[in-house]
Amino acid sequence: MTAAIVATVGVFGLAIGSFLNVVVWRVPRGESIVSPPSACPRCRHAIRARDNVPVLSWLVLRGRCRDCAAPISVRYPLVEATTAILFALVAWHFGAVAVLPAVLYVVAISVALALIDIDVRRLPDAIVLPSYPVAVALLALASWNPGGASDWGALVRALIGGASMFLAYFVLVIVYPPGMGLGDVKLAGVLGLFLGWFGWSALVVGWFSAFLLGGVFSVGLLLTGRAGRKSGIPFGPWLLLGGAVGVACGTTIWDWYQGFLV
Ligand SMILES: [Zn+2]
Repeated sequence: MTAAIVATVGVFGLAIGSFLNVVVWRVPRGESIVSPPSACPRCRHAIRARDNVPVLSWLVLRGRCRDCAAPISVRYPLVEATTAILFALVAWHFGAVAVLPAVLYVVAISVALALIDIDVRRLPDAIVLPSYPVAVALLALASWNPGGASDWGALVRALIGGASMFLAYFVLVIVYPPGMGLGDVKLAGVLGLFLGWFGWSALVVGWFSAFLLGGVFSVGLLLTGRAGRKSGIPFGPWLLLGGAVGVACGTTIWDWYQGFLV
């Protein structure tokens, strides 16, 4: 049963990854993600359905357009494969639980936002802002148990988590403007909703992990001379990675930390 769920969610992840490639390319350019259909950027030929199968088509075409042989970046199949692997891992870790759709949603926007932030140093409102109502709705669904006791406490914790992450990062941006931008603040609020739902330890660990990871990476770049202070290191990917650490091992790390203190 679990193997079937993991496989199904993994294949679903391939399709979502294919959609995310469209999102990552079009959203920063202000283009629609539904129309027009995908076309080769060089010869403008529409991509045929059989050439739009995630990962496989790229391999069959050996990374070239069928019409003009223009190279197709290896990033496309990599994004599809990565999304599928992340989806399968999440399904394997959580199983068929009510919070699974919420986690898959945050994984999908994380992949898109991390790539866009690396590409253009932005976390587009078009993705981040709708994520607030979507996250609240999916987390409310996860808290609701029609056959027994609903866990509305988790939903309240999610709202507190969202508000506190937003405020904490907002204060940071005011205090230390070069570190990050308002896009990071808005994303932090979304991640706080998810972290809060999973528990206080997830929230605290997610918060600190983002800082630790982002801080170590930035200092490393500065020390090795690969980045000046003004080169605008994207903080979004670290915020997302920190959130993932908080959800995946927040409780374990928190227990370890408390044991360490005693
Ligand atoms: Zn072409």
